[in-house]
Amino acid sequence: MANKEKKDAQENKLFQTIISHAKEYGFVFPSSEIYDGLQAVYDYGQNGVQLKNNLKQVWWKAMTQLNENIVGIDAAIFMHPTVWKASGHVDGFNDPMIDNKDSKKRYRVDHLIERHAEKMIAEGKKTEAEVLLQKMDDLLAKEDFKTLYELIVSEKIACEISSTVNWTEVRQFNLMFSTEIGSVSDESNKIYLRPETAQGIFVNFLNVQKTGRMKIPFGIAQIGKAFRNEIVARQFIFRMREFEQMEMQYFVRPGEEMITYNDWKEKRMKFLQAIGLPAQKLRFHNHTKLAHYANAALDIEYEFPFGFKELEGIHSRTDFDLKNHQEYSKTKQIYFDEEVQDKEKQRYIPYVVETSIGADRLFLAILCNAYTETEGVDAKGETKTRIFLKLHPAIAPIKVAVFPLVRNSGLPEKAREVFEMLRYDFDAMYEERGAIGKNYTRMDMIGTPFCITVDHQTLEDQTVTIRYRDTTEQERVLISDLPKIIGEAVSLRKVWEKLG
Ligand code: ATP
Repeated sequence: MANKEKKDAQENKLFQTIISHAKEYGFVFPSSEIYDGLQAVYDYGQNGVQLKNNLKQVWWKAMTQLNENIVGIDAAIFMHPTVWKASGHVDGFNDPMIDNKDSKKRYRVDHLIERHAEKMIAEGKKTEAEVLLQKMDDLLAKEDFKTLYELIVSEKIACEISSTVNWTEVRQFNLMFSTEIGSVSDESNKIYLRPETAQGIFVNFLNVQKTGRMKIPFGIAQIGKAFRNEIVARQFIFRMREFEQMEMQYFVRPGEEMITYNDWKEKRMKFLQAIGLPAQKLRFHNHTKLAHYANAALDIEYEFPFGFKELEGIHSRTDFDLKNHQEYSKTKQIYFDEEVQDKEKQRYIPYVVETSIGADRLFLAILCNAYTETEGVDAKGETKTRIFLKLHPAIAPIKVAVFPLVRNSGLPEKAREVFEMLRYDFDAMYEERGAIGKNYTRMDMIGTPFCITVDHQTLEDQTVTIRYRDTTEQERVLISDLPKIIGEAVSLRKVWEKLG
């Protein structure tokens, strides 16, 4: 096997292992699994919801608590349909698609060609692949779908299922889900499930600015569900049809957007590292082709087991959205800037820099990064693989688990006492079933940083054994010291300090 194929196979195996782990340990389940699931829709289980909530909470606090001029909102998923006209989604939120007539499988044209180019590179045809990708980019930019179709056929790009080049023409496909509001079902009642959370912020810009007496520059942050009828829905929770976004729109004076853009680029990179993603697995990817509304854009990419892919987008969106909402709603979106001396420049529509990250995609990056396999020798001298999730304690679903060594001699009662002391401040759990060793292993699998065992000595001297997940080291500590030990490890202050 060629080196590249071998590496791909290993990465693919690792990814499949992580997906199985996520299911087996209550992180992520396929939606409606007993009905064979629903493609690209997933449910979070008992540990997954905790981890995801923790991620959302650190993001929320990093935005709203650490920045005095950023406040949060929670806008509805349903919005007036004209919002999506003004934002350009009704006319422009399309992907060019092509169907294979034999397999009936539908592909996003850019993904189909990109995959073909990857194969060419693996076969040593790097230059030809680059030429092909350049041609694709040019045709996509010109929306020349006829020539795109001809390119696919002439390059003999085949369907992965039928292996034929029997394609339909290339067509645009809108990614928004629609439904009807009210009791009468007709076109005039058609509304959309929002494909991004950002528009809920734009239409509330003046509400927040006025009621919060916000002065530019200021930001509005939001976490919420978004829906996209993604065509190519693969790679587990990387690309879902229902997902959650964490977005922040920062409103600035026109002309000052590039300074803000560069600031946020650095801040967001630091944030991702502070919550545990290693610097060498993160990189910036500047967009060379910009959307019509942007004057700068980049992705922060993370190296997933299937390669470097977009994790977060940072976009300088000019005044595009607010200007369009002003035009469509006939409501002025003007800010009066009393700090500007030049009277003619005091009134303006602010420019916007946004940071946008998927909560689910961040969850996946964190999970992939945390999944650790180490080899060690057990008590019997046998080499064993140990699996654990090396999660930052601040985001681990359970921070501390408490076990009595045996289920008698007053140990469960004492262990419960310790659990009661900890549970109000930390996500804690109590377990008296099973052997201690097995319980440690279970806790490793969900990334619990601390396990506490109560034994006979505890009754005499008020000490317990604390076992550390990453090193498996154990030490005896006083019960009264536990809140400090755990508290320091899970404190967000440590995360914030890294943000500088
Ligand atoms: P992609 O190129 O991967 O489709 P995008 O450029 O369309 O993403 P944006 O519209 O910029 O993505 O959305 C911002 C963020 O929302 C992305 O960086 C990603 O983390 C997340 N996101 C977007 N689409 C999905 C999806 N279908 N499933 C999960 N997360 C998503």
